[in-house]
Amino acid sequence: SDTATLQRGLPIPQGISKPAFLSAIDELRNLLGAKHVLLNDKEIKNGWYMESPNTHDMMPLFDSEEFIASAVVYPGSVDDVKIIVKWANKHLIPLFPISIGRNLGYGGSAPRVRGSVTIDLGRRMNRILDINADDFTCLVEPGVTFYALHEELVKRGLDDKMWIDTPDLGGGSVIGNTLDRGVGYTPYGDHWACHSGLEVVLPSVGEKGDVSVLRTGMGALGVGGENTWQCFPYGFGPYNDGIFSQSNFGIVTKMGMTLMPNPGGFESFMYTFANESDLAPLIEIIRPLRISNILENVAQLRHGLQTLSVKGHPRTKYFAGTGPMPDDVVRKHLRTTATGECAWVYYGMSYGPAHIRGHKLDIIDKEFHRIPGCKRIDPSTLPADEYFWSRDRIASGTPDLEELKWVNWMPNGSHIAFSPVSPIRGKDADNLFALARKRHAEAGIDLMPAFCVGLREMHLIVEIVFDAEDEEMKRKAEECLRGMIDDAAKLGYGEYRTHLALMDQVAGTYSWNDSALMKFNNTLKDAIDPNGILAPGRCGIWPERYRNRGWEL
Ligand code: FAD
Repeated sequence: SDTATLQRGLPIPQGISKPAFLSAIDELRNLLGAKHVLLNDKEIKNGWYMESPNTHDMMPLFDSEEFIASAVVYPGSVDDVKIIVKWANKHLIPLFPISIGRNLGYGGSAPRVRGSVTIDLGRRMNRILDINADDFTCLVEPGVTFYALHEELVKRGLDDKMWIDTPDLGGGSVIGNTLDRGVGYTPYGDHWACHSGLEVVLPSVGEKGDVSVLRTGMGALGVGGENTWQCFPYGFGPYNDGIFSQSNFGIVTKMGMTLMPNPGGFESFMYTFANESDLAPLIEIIRPLRISNILENVAQLRHGLQTLSVKGHPRTKYFAGTGPMPDDVVRKHLRTTATGECAWVYYGMSYGPAHIRGHKLDIIDKEFHRIPGCKRIDPSTLPADEYFWSRDRIASGTPDLEELKWVNWMPNGSHIAFSPVSPIRGKDADNLFALARKRHAEAGIDLMPAFCVGLREMHLIVEIVFDAEDEEMKRKAEECLRGMIDDAAKLGYGEYRTHLALMDQVAGTYSWNDSALMKFNNTLKDAIDPNGILAPGRCGIWPERYRNRGWEL
């Protein structure tokens, strides 16, 4: 952990004087209790992943005091959240809600507008309100992490009956990750698709001084809605949930989630492929297997360099030169690892009893071996600390932290992701890999791509690992990212999610028909949040009070 004094002083939001802001903070303290409202006027404090700050991005692409909160408020109830919304509307102070704030790679806990007041919902609103062992569903508050939900299943003796689906790291919140449309690695890996029902506090204040709370889907029923709230996500009429994900239209205080039945057995497998040029034919093999559910989980096809970096050593252990690490150096070092020399590694899992798994695994083995040089690595040969076992835990619903290790690749290791989606086609994989390769070579940065294969699309996740203290490297990383976003957009690829710093650019690529979608989002924003207090700029959506006034990056 490291601590630095704030160089730019208390980050007061724009449009309000310091005395007026401090007096508003006093008012909020009186409303909620002084210990639940903390001013961020002293220092920037970073810690390791499980102690990550709730005031700023500890992996900053810009000056670490750019995306920073002026204060953090800890509501203990939905009524507290309503009080905060009313207060923000009165003083025109921007709010930024987080559930846990471990959105590392996408901005961490930082607000988009400097000086926003962060609502840390997770600190006090962290109850698991229901686990239904008949329906395989749960209802959670914002502070429930993947670890907490898993531990609760263990505590109740239900872990053998049902699983959670966790992202690579288990310290994030079920709600925050799902609202950002994050991914996990069991057949329930599309978290947004697996949620059912939201409770949302809206950001405006009515004529009578009231703040609205709504429930979506079956939760909107006047009586007894809860009965089916977590079983059927749509209810009646327009399906509104979507506008509360990757947006700034509401503060989510409860969410329903489906849980996966224990499939009665599971078996991880790993294949390596010798050449980078195997990518396209392999993706062509993967598509029909994935769509027909022979490949059952959101698996990962990772570049060899990522397999090397996840060992957790700094890059200098392998290579002292500058610029991207040459392929022959990567291969030389992989030779001494469990995967051996290779270009790509596929990590997957088969589910069900042995005889059912055997049938599917035979098909996969036969199909993958159509690629010359394909090797199946026998898991029984792998030591207990091999990364493969981390993927094994994650794909069977047990949260983990191993994935953090590649962040050590650089000193002051930070990272930021380029995350375009495409169909599962060889040509698309080649296009994306080629444009990433070109931009990384220009920037002198190591390329670490991983294809996460969903049911009919794949997310390419390219993590740029950079030294947070190296300004030149940060500029090159930004240039590389911006270049990739533009190159991808020209070819018809868009990001599924992005870092705060890149949201305007990414939103700008979704410009079909004179940016009709963004115009619609702006219309919604102005109607739902007329004072523009909630997370201005998130996902490129700026309220009228900020729009076209120089905030866009
Ligand atoms: P938060 O930071 O709390 O929320 C995310 C965003 O959603 C917030 O910034 C906010 O804008 C909005 N939000 C949150 N709560 C609310 C609310 N209650 N109401 C309204 N808006 C809200 N991510 C994946 O999806 N899959 C992965 O496999 C994965 N692997 C990772 C590996 C590494 C090594 C690292 C460092 C990160 C990885 N991530 C991954 C990214 C990130 O860590 C996770 O997505 C994490 O779960 C997000 O943080 P959080 O859950 O604490 O969400």
